[in-house]
Amino acid sequence: MDPSVIIVGAGFGGVAAAIELQRHGFRDLTLLESAPQIGGTWFHNHYPGAACDVPSHLYSFSFAQRRDWPRLCSPQPEILRYLQGVARDHGVDRLLVPDTRVARCEWDGGWTVHSEDGRRFQASALVIATGQLHQPAWPNIPGREAFAGHSFHSAQWDHDYDLRGKRVAVIGTGASAVQFVPEIAGEVQRLLVFQRSGNWFLPRSNRPYPAATKAVFQHVPGVQAFRRKFLFNYGETLTMMIRHPRTIGLVGRARSASFMRLQLRDAALRRAVWPDYTFGCKRVLFSSAFLPALQRPNVQVLTEAITEMTPDGLRTAGGGHHEVDCVIYGTGFRTTDFMFPMEVVGPGGRTLRETWAQGAHAHLGMVVPGFPSMFVMYGPNTNTSGGSIVWYLEVQAAYLRQALQLARERGAGAVEVRPEVEAASDRAVQARFAGTAWTQCDSWYRDERGRIVANWPGYMREYGVKARTLDPAEYTFSAVSAPAPAPSR
Ligand code: NAP
Repeated sequence: MDPSVIIVGAGFGGVAAAIELQRHGFRDLTLLESAPQIGGTWFHNHYPGAACDVPSHLYSFSFAQRRDWPRLCSPQPEILRYLQGVARDHGVDRLLVPDTRVARCEWDGGWTVHSEDGRRFQASALVIATGQLHQPAWPNIPGREAFAGHSFHSAQWDHDYDLRGKRVAVIGTGASAVQFVPEIAGEVQRLLVFQRSGNWFLPRSNRPYPAATKAVFQHVPGVQAFRRKFLFNYGETLTMMIRHPRTIGLVGRARSASFMRLQLRDAALRRAVWPDYTFGCKRVLFSSAFLPALQRPNVQVLTEAITEMTPDGLRTAGGGHHEVDCVIYGTGFRTTDFMFPMEVVGPGGRTLRETWAQGAHAHLGMVVPGFPSMFVMYGPNTNTSGGSIVWYLEVQAAYLRQALQLARERGAGAVEVRPEVEAASDRAVQARFAGTAWTQCDSWYRDERGRIVANWPGYMREYGVKARTLDPAEYTFSAVSAPAPAPSR
C-alpha cells in the first residue's frame, strides 16, 4: 500500500520532504501550514535587514541551484521567493493546506492530525517540520504588560508603526537584532540597545556581486559547484574552531577580536560589548554594520539588567529609568520547545512531551522510539553553528523517504526506530560535546537542565555520513491493526 504522509510545516524542511517523497513516487502527500503561504521562518521574519548570513550558494537546495544570486547572502524577500519558486517548480505548492495550525497529532494505527479550528487529517506517516526557531520568546520582565507604549517582537515586525523620530528600546543583541539595529538606527530619534551578553563578530558587508563575478558564476562551467564546495568547507572550519576552542578556536577568536577592535574605536563601548565567553559558544555573528551602528550619537548600549518595565519605559538594576515610545523584542525563540505546544500522542496515549521530559532527543534528530512512522525535521541536535541547515534538511528528507520506502516494500504499516539504537546515538551525541566551546557558556542551544538539545556536535560531513543511508536493522517494521484512510482535506 502506498503510505499517505502528512507534513506539518511548509518552510525549507517541509518543502524538502514533500519534493523528496513526491520524486520517489509517494503520491498521497499533504502539506499543512499555519501561515497563508509557503515560507516558514522566511515568511514570518521580515524585519528590516532580515537576511541569511549563510551564503546563498550553500543556503539553497543542491537540486535547485541558482547561478544568478545577486549577492553573497540573500535578503529575506529573495529567500522567500526562491523557496516558493522551488516549491512551484516541483509541483508541491499544490499540496499546501494553508492557514492550518496543528494542535494535536495522535497515533491510532495511523496518524490523525487535528487543526486548532477543528479540522481532521489522516495519514499513515507524519513528518513534523516546524523547526526550532518559530515561536517567539518573550522575556520574563516584571511589569512587561504594564508598558503603555508600542511593542513588538522581531519575528512579528510591525511595519505599520512608524519608528521615525521615536525613542526606541531594543532588548537583545542576537543574530536578528544585529541585522535590524543598523537599519533603524538612522531613523529613530534615540535608540537604547539593552545587551545581556556581548557577541563575537566576524565581517560581512554583503555588497551586490560585481557584474563580472556574476557572469563567471553564470557562464563558467564548474564555478558554481566549486563555490558551493568552498562554502561548505568554510562552514566546516568554523565548526572545527568551535570543536577545538583551545587550538584552532584561538585563531577564530583572534580573527574576531582584531575585527572588533578595528570597528570599536571607543574603549568604553569596546569594554561594554566585549563577550566574556569562549569564541563559538553562542552563535558567532556576521555583521560589519552592527558595531558601527552602536557608535552613532543617537544610540546607547546599556548592559545593566532590566529589572522592571513601567508604563513609559524600562528600569535597570542601577535604578535608572529610561523613557521610550517603543520596545522591540529581539529576544529570540523558544528553541527547546520544538513543535510544542502541539500535542503529539503515540500508541498507548504516551505523549512526546512525557518522552522528552528530561530533554528532547531523537535518533539523528529525526526518529523517536514509541512514535511509529513519525519523523521530525530540524529536530533535536540538528542545528548547525557553522553550516547550512538547508543542507541538513535535504539529508533528512532523503532519510525519512528511505524509511517510508522500506515500509512500503515490506508491506509494513509502521516503521519505528529501536529504542536501544536511539539511546546509543543520544549518548554518542551528548558525549561528543565534551571539550567543545558549546559547553562553555549558557545559550539557546541548551534546555533548562543545561543539556544541549539544539545543536549537532560535529561536522556537516559527519551528519551526512551517518544519515545518508538508513540501516534497516535499526528499525522495526510492523503491520498495524487499523490502517488509516487517505487524508481528508
Ligand atoms: P537569539 O540569538 O536567541 O538572541 C536573543 C537575544 O536576546 C540575546 O542577545 C539574548 O541575550 C537576549 N535576551 C533574551 N532574553 C532576554 C532577557 N530576558 N533580557 C535581556 N536580554 C534577553 O535570537 P535571534 O537574534 O532572534 O536569533 C535566533 C537564531 O535565529 C539565531 O541564533 C540564528 O540561528 C537564527 N537567525 C539566523 C539569521 C541568519 O542570518 N542566518 C538571522 C537571524 C536569526 P543572551 O545572549 O544573554 O541570552
